[in-house]
Amino acid sequence: MKIREHFADPVTETDSLVAEALADEKSRQQSQIELIASENMVSRAVLDALGHEMTNKTLEGYPGNRFHGGADFADQVENAVIDRARELFCCGYVNAQPHSGTQANQAVFFALLQPGDRILSLDLAAGGHLSHGARPNLSGRWFEAHHYNVDRETGLIDYDAVAKQAVNVKPRLLIAGGSAYPREFDFERMRAIADRVGARFLVDMAHFAGLVAAGVHPSPLQHADIVTCTTTKTMRGPRGGLILAKDEGWRRKLQSAIFPGVQGSLHTQVIAAKAVCLGEALEPEFKQYGQTVRANARTLAETLQSREIRVVSGGTDTHIVLLDLSSRGLTGQQLQDILYRANITCNKNPIPFDSPRPSEWVGVRLGSSAGTTRGFGQAEFERIGHSIADLADAAVDPRRVNDAIAAAKDTVASICRRFTIYR
Ligand SMILES: *Cc1c(COP(=O)(O)O)cnc(C)c1O
Repeated sequence: MKIREHFADPVTETDSLVAEALADEKSRQQSQIELIASENMVSRAVLDALGHEMTNKTLEGYPGNRFHGGADFADQVENAVIDRARELFCCGYVNAQPHSGTQANQAVFFALLQPGDRILSLDLAAGGHLSHGARPNLSGRWFEAHHYNVDRETGLIDYDAVAKQAVNVKPRLLIAGGSAYPREFDFERMRAIADRVGARFLVDMAHFAGLVAAGVHPSPLQHADIVTCTTTKTMRGPRGGLILAKDEGWRRKLQSAIFPGVQGSLHTQVIAAKAVCLGEALEPEFKQYGQTVRANARTLAETLQSREIRVVSGGTDTHIVLLDLSSRGLTGQQLQDILYRANITCNKNPIPFDSPRPSEWVGVRLGSSAGTTRGFGQAEFERIGHSIADLADAAVDPRRVNDAIAAAKDTVASICRRFTIYR
């Protein structure tokens, strides 16, 4: 039997189960069209950092003030994250360490709130996020969460209603941001509401941070006390989060909220990958990327609307297109399943005022960020939109469904062949 070479053997020689799953996942990504709005495709350079020996380094604390030795190079990359994020988002304070967007939010709550305090955030069905006070999340257990909603007719946030609710609820924290709201938030308006009731104002820009970085979406940094985001999604970087603030006013509280408040040691290789991601976002090409992401989402929305599929709020300002299938007699799960059979991945989602039961949701959320990274333009997103509409048409007619899936699969294959990833 061959003796294992710990420092040399690749996973393809040491672990066939994992090696096969990795290979299968890579070819799945090559052969399917990715429309999950929270996904993207990182660069080879980001992958290099993620798979680097830097992962061995254990560190707690912050650059220049660590509990362990040997921090020189990890300090360099963490300082690069801070410097680059400051430049990119024009802000004073950056925390590079959150392991995820959810933990970035947790740290902000830890810094600003006491258990039992009231928070006011976007309703989950209207596109809010679990970490903003949803019952099963820690944030919903430890804080008294209230939720504002969108207008039933327009699908847009009704700021007069938010202001009224804020006066009644008197939250200690007002939160803007969500995972399925396809429109821009009015940060100025929300700041004024927060000021009126003496609340702090948090913007969670997890989904649209890359659009802010590209300059194609208003920046919340001048308006919010604190801004959180992920480095995945439109930022196109590793799985992880950032905490930002326009100035250093909250520094001491936020630093200790992340460590030792809610996290331990760094994911050092992820910090390196965040630095690479932010470096890429500072390049002029990233502006172009952001513009194309938005234009492609609009093309997708318009194509689907032209085929009589309702788009919540009538369109999009971002990478997100939220479909309302109620008039089609389809659930989100049904469309998600039929698209998957045609090699298009997406997720079911509630639409505003939807059923609390996921199996009854009538929404599907689509996003343009991964496809745009791959190189898809308007022509591809039009073809994809028509394939989705064909599948939605056929889904209610058992005689047509297999033919429709076969046709859509051909379209997907012909697009995927032309746009190779990770050569
Ligand atoms: C995706 C997302 C997060 C965090 O996601 P993680 O999966 O924890 O990284 C937080 N807030 C919003 C609004 C999101 O969309």
